[in-house]
Amino acid sequence: LALHDAVLGEAERHGDRPALIDGITGETVTYAQLAHAVGRVAAGLAAAGVRQGDVVALFSPNSIRYPMAFFGATRAGATVTPVSSLTTHGELAGQLTDSAARWLMTVSPFLPTARAAAEKLAADGRPLAGILVLDGAEGHLSLADLLAATGPAPELALDPAEAVAVLPYSSGTTGLPKGVMLTHRSIATNLAQTDAVFRPKPGERVLAVLPFFHIYGLAALLHQPLRCGATVVVLPRFDLEQFCRTVQDQRVQSVLAAPPIVLALAKHPVVEQYDLSSVEYLLCAAAPLDGELAEICARRLGLSHILQGYGMTELSPVSHVMDPTDPDPSPGSVGRMVPSTELRVTALDGTGADLGTGERGELLIRGPQVMKGYFGRPSDTAAIVDDDGWLHTGDIGFVDERGYLHIVDRVKELIKYKGYQVAPAELEALLLSHPQIADAAVIGVRDAEGTECPKAFVVRAPGSALTEQEVAAFVAGQVAPYKKVRAVEFLDAVPKSAAGKILRRELREREAAAAR
Ligand code: ATP
Ligand code: MG
Repeated sequence: LALHDAVLGEAERHGDRPALIDGITGETVTYAQLAHAVGRVAAGLAAAGVRQGDVVALFSPNSIRYPMAFFGATRAGATVTPVSSLTTHGELAGQLTDSAARWLMTVSPFLPTARAAAEKLAADGRPLAGILVLDGAEGHLSLADLLAATGPAPELALDPAEAVAVLPYSSGTTGLPKGVMLTHRSIATNLAQTDAVFRPKPGERVLAVLPFFHIYGLAALLHQPLRCGATVVVLPRFDLEQFCRTVQDQRVQSVLAAPPIVLALAKHPVVEQYDLSSVEYLLCAAAPLDGELAEICARRLGLSHILQGYGMTELSPVSHVMDPTDPDPSPGSVGRMVPSTELRVTALDGTGADLGTGERGELLIRGPQVMKGYFGRPSDTAAIVDDDGWLHTGDIGFVDERGYLHIVDRVKELIKYKGYQVAPAELEALLLSHPQIADAAVIGVRDAEGTECPKAFVVRAPGSALTEQEVAAFVAGQVAPYKKVRAVEFLDAVPKSAAGKILRRELREREAAAAR
């Protein structure tokens, strides 16, 4: 099945049920309207010249119209490359070039950025075929224009196992973002693989506050809820008060989150002013989550626990999720494997030997959700997916006696202190447990002797006069000596991506700039 058919195949049956609600204005799109719109947009795009196999970049914040553009494009046979809302014109030009995009769909506030990127492409001798502005702008096709299309939606002959539906870029946490080729089949299969652990009921209200341009938001907040007849309550970005107000007013039942949201829900006093009792399901994924923080957050929301999941762009994106019906979930774990997936844990000592229960090593995953490859980067693909189809995740973890996976950290992030290995995630969790610390990030830095050692970047809670010495002493009092934090710096905010990951690259650049 093509992705749009897998997701919207039953849309007509859900008819007048709201598919999407704007969390701020209350504006609604029903399933019937969405299904109709997707057909019209596909026809309009075909009439405008979009051909099967074309790459269409979608540069828009979350909105109730996003899926019309997204599925309209896939229904026209195109590959969608979603673009982060925070992208600069230089980065946009980079992604458009790297993905070989021919078309760009955007919204009027982003048009200056889009035009600047398009000019750069034209100057480089590969102009875009067109820029569409969903909410309308002089001289550009709009969503309304596409919806007015009268022709039939194009006949497609696409092979779901080969045709790339989405070309999302990885978050660029460890290096440059890479375009990940996900076929119609790999994404649709992964949705089915998560049915047992995340299958919202028809009409269930799911809050979409994570960005649709990142694979987590796209799959968990758009594809799966729409596939199930649920109602997606859409917010354009995370703002704690707006988040709480929307959950309360819209009686939201399911929240899919990333650690910064859990952090805010656990620590911020404003949360107490709202009635968040409608929430039954809260899943956190995308980055390590501190167990204590998760517990505080769960208690505040009246939940028995916060669920966790694990995935990556290269996995379409899920391999592990905690089961909400599990009476005894393993705290701190990301749950068990989804069906049809295999896992190996291999030694980090260079031998790559398979490890047993409880032993920490690199996670290797195999299954139908593994990407087709990185677009235009065969050697990068070969470096991460081996000949037997195992994806080398670059993450370290272990499986406990009951079969639950625990994520430790990324191989690349481990700080090698004098032959010992220190996981930044462990120190970050510890720092966050301090009542006067609002947020924290840890990276490895070189000291005067060239030894790599942990440095903490700390955001103080409002009104706190915590000193660097106090932070260092707090950590030293609770960890083995080799894990001590050897430098502390206060920041106003920890740099994070829109999907909720700590941007360690930015911290490293800051460190390098300070050293110069
Ligand atoms: P890049 O690959 O470009 O450096 P990235 O790896 O951050 O960026 P994504 O594909 O968005 O890009 O993120 C996948 C990664 O997120 C995983 O490899 C893992 O390191 C991390 N991650 C996801 N879920 C969890 C989780 N529950 N706990 C800890 N880490 C997680
Ligand atoms: Mg990655």
